[in-house]
Amino acid sequence: MTTTDSIPLVCASLGERELAAVAEVFASGWPAGQGPRGKALEAGLKERYGAGDAVAVSNCGAALHLAMLGFEVGPGDEVIVADYTFPAPAHAVRYVGARPVFADVRADTGTVDPAAVAALVTERTVGIIAVDVLGLPADYAELQAIADRHGLFLVEDAACGVGATYRGREAGSLAEVACLSFHGRKGATSGEGGALITADPALGAKARQLSSFGIGSIYDMGQVIGLPVPEFTEIGYNFKLSDIAAAILQVQLTRVEELMERRNAVAARYAELFADEELLTVPHVPADRTHAWQSYLVTLDARVDRGAVATDLRAQGIGCLHGTWASHLQPAFDAQQVCPVSADLFRRNLGIPMHAELSEDQVERVARAVRTAVTAHARPLGRAA
Ligand SMILES: *Cc1c(COP(=O)(O)O)cnc(C)c1O
Repeated sequence: MTTTDSIPLVCASLGERELAAVAEVFASGWPAGQGPRGKALEAGLKERYGAGDAVAVSNCGAALHLAMLGFEVGPGDEVIVADYTFPAPAHAVRYVGARPVFADVRADTGTVDPAAVAALVTERTVGIIAVDVLGLPADYAELQAIADRHGLFLVEDAACGVGATYRGREAGSLAEVACLSFHGRKGATSGEGGALITADPALGAKARQLSSFGIGSIYDMGQVIGLPVPEFTEIGYNFKLSDIAAAILQVQLTRVEELMERRNAVAARYAELFADEELLTVPHVPADRTHAWQSYLVTLDARVDRGAVATDLRAQGIGCLHGTWASHLQPAFDAQQVCPVSADLFRRNLGIPMHAELSEDQVERVARAVRTAVTAHARPLGRAA
């Protein structure tokens, strides 16, 4: 590996086994959704998460939307959402005409602050959407206690969480409903994809029905004797996951631990290489949980010019990104709210390459480049903006 090779921020680990699984679907003649592969994937997810049901869908945004429909959220309702995240939870609340209320996050983890959530509960509040931020689970014990006290639902946005744990339990099973993403940037992927995992079989059945235009599987309809003609009794959506994607995911789910091990090694090495760097802090992982490392964000000191650092890294072919978003600052939500901690992380965090394909040399090269850049672009002490 020479120093001119670029190091991407993200690289999906898709290989020969996934290709072979796709070839099998081609040969089967059923590439669409809710066929044999989709059903097998759902059975595998249900078992993996010890769930009442698992519904394979087109993406995590669709899973969150179905969760809102499942809990019958609608106009006049408020749902408290974690602020520092890809803002899919707030989108989902808006899809059903309700109001997202943004809760600030813990400065040390970026996960939603239970005290902030508790302070935002009103008579209109119907639920909470917490997020496993970039792969780190939130404080689900405290959040569940708040939900129970006020009779609210709790949803885990585990889009980035596959492979993480909280108090010994798998992310994806930390609330009554969890929504997973299998987008190409996540730890297990089929390019695009998602799943709704739920303890409640009735909610699962409803979500599955709504995910296919409000009727059952077209594949199943072809398997019965006779000709029963199903009726459309409600307006549904097309959120189905193709059997092609399901086949890829069946392989990916057998690789979660292997890929997790490699990302853990990258995170541990970054932590060593940045240990004495005063101009940035590395992610903090509380002792009661593990990180899925969907992304690796360093928090730059307030003296560092983040844009200049990013420009330097990109000029060397090293991928980087601002991290994730302070949702309440996004114009789409017109939120008349402040979440100072989230806003601060949104300004200072920097995502650097994190994936299972990184070599030790690449990790070292990234760390060296980051340290050189933050030093070059730090204002002198006492002159923080
Ligand atoms: C990626 C992401 C989503 C969206 O997932 P899709 O499968 O692309 O819809 C939702 N929530 C969070 C926290 C994410 O990081």
